[in-house]
Amino acid sequence: MDMKGKRYNMNSEGKGYCIDKEEKERSNLIELSFEEMEQFLQSLGQKKYRAKQVLRWIYKGATDIDDMTDIPKELREELKKVAYIGSVEPKEKYVSKDGTVKYLFALSDGNIIESVLMTYKYGLSICISSQVGCKMGCKFCASSVLGFIRNLTPGEMMEQVLAVQRDCQTPIGNITIMGIGEPLDNYENLVKFLKLANMPGGLNMSLRKINVSTCGLVPGILKLANEGLPVNLSISLHAPDDAKRMELMPIGKSYSLDKIIGACNIYTGKTRRRITFEYIMIDGFNDSREDALVLAGRIRGMLCHVNLIPANYVEGTRFKPSTREKMEVFENLLENNGISVTIRRELGKDIDAACGQLRRRVIEKEREKKEAEVEKK
Ligand code: SAH
Repeated sequence: MDMKGKRYNMNSEGKGYCIDKEEKERSNLIELSFEEMEQFLQSLGQKKYRAKQVLRWIYKGATDIDDMTDIPKELREELKKVAYIGSVEPKEKYVSKDGTVKYLFALSDGNIIESVLMTYKYGLSICISSQVGCKMGCKFCASSVLGFIRNLTPGEMMEQVLAVQRDCQTPIGNITIMGIGEPLDNYENLVKFLKLANMPGGLNMSLRKINVSTCGLVPGILKLANEGLPVNLSISLHAPDDAKRMELMPIGKSYSLDKIIGACNIYTGKTRRRITFEYIMIDGFNDSREDALVLAGRIRGMLCHVNLIPANYVEGTRFKPSTREKMEVFENLLENNGISVTIRRELGKDIDAACGQLRRRVIEKEREKKEAEVEKK
């Protein structure tokens, strides 16, 4: 196949892949799998073994084709004509007292996303965004306030990992796709990203070290169960019954808790991976003894773990976190009913590390600045 000079990556809607004859844009090398890289280099008249070399540079953090010093200069010149190494641009960085680091990145179209680096006993973990904004409209979430702009490409997801790794100069051991966006609403790009992350010669990360968090898109969960990519799955449950869940999460109207739990059982059956149920605790809303017992009754016997998280107060919402005492009562009730449960340690509270908060603050600040300028004129 002659692909010389042709674009070999995302099509214009950011969905799926194409080799577009007309496109003048160059290929983002980060979006190529091992086999695609081999084909791409062969199309430039190169030997297959170069793919390994190029990938080694990319995953070492190179951002410029000229950094690849063991690649002959002529090939680098040729590559630069048809390809580039995509990178997100660090705009701001905040370091919390507890060591959590929040990054604001600018994409090539100017949109802003967030990534968070957390340090655990077992190593570094990065939380990446999967979309610019989010369509799901959860009532407690800062990302919902600004709405949805677009999907991230697999390259843009990987670029967050590589940019943070470059900055902290330590290999990252875990990836959670739990930042801005709903990963299963960007399914094809998510799957391509997971394959890239798992690729030998690339990041080579075990799928056990990757966690995908969803608000409960049942068709996506079922599709992922059959993908042959046994990643850890987290479900943002947040309520013990459908009525309460629908109050918090509009998606609850499309998929009932029974349907979600059914899909989770299929997921664990196929992958043997334990599901994590995320449960944000909201004062006086979902934190009573009865709520705990109803929840326990629903998930008893499943291969699962419950993470209790105090709701992070987001301006403009009516949800306040439960007290520590109430959370502990809730935890004990679940435990006594045979459910594996922990109260999640809160990280980066002093730097707006919770989902979408920082991006929202920065965007609203910029908006106010612009409005003030217009008023002045
Ligand atoms: N859309 C995916 C992943 C992004 S949200 C999902 O729903 O899982 C990441 C996590 O942060 C979700 O569990 C979400 O419910 C939670 N979250 C969002 N806003 C929050 C808040 N104000 N306080 C606590 N957790 C919040």
